[in-house]
Amino acid sequence: MVEDWRLMGQESYLAGRSLRFARWTPYRLDWDHDHCDFCSAEISDDQTGHADFNEAWVTADDDYTWVCPKCFNDFRERFGWIAAER
Ligand SMILES: [Zn+2]
Repeated sequence: MVEDWRLMGQESYLAGRSLRFARWTPYRLDWDHDHCDFCSAEISDDQTGHADFNEAWVTADDDYTWVCPKCFNDFRERFGWIAAER
């Protein structure tokens, strides 16, 4: 079976994590966007249409790793993600 191109060893740090759906906010003040950890879609609060998503899933305990809605749906079973309350 051919592995999905988006899978690059994320199991080592993302398996079993809690993720919550949220509007994008910067992890640090000087960051203006993030990328989906799987497909690299751009996630930001940019309103000019440049961002692929303004809202996405983010690791609930550290707000650090972002996953776009499509990849969340595609991989949530494989990774055993828990959808956390906001
Ligand atoms: Zn994605």
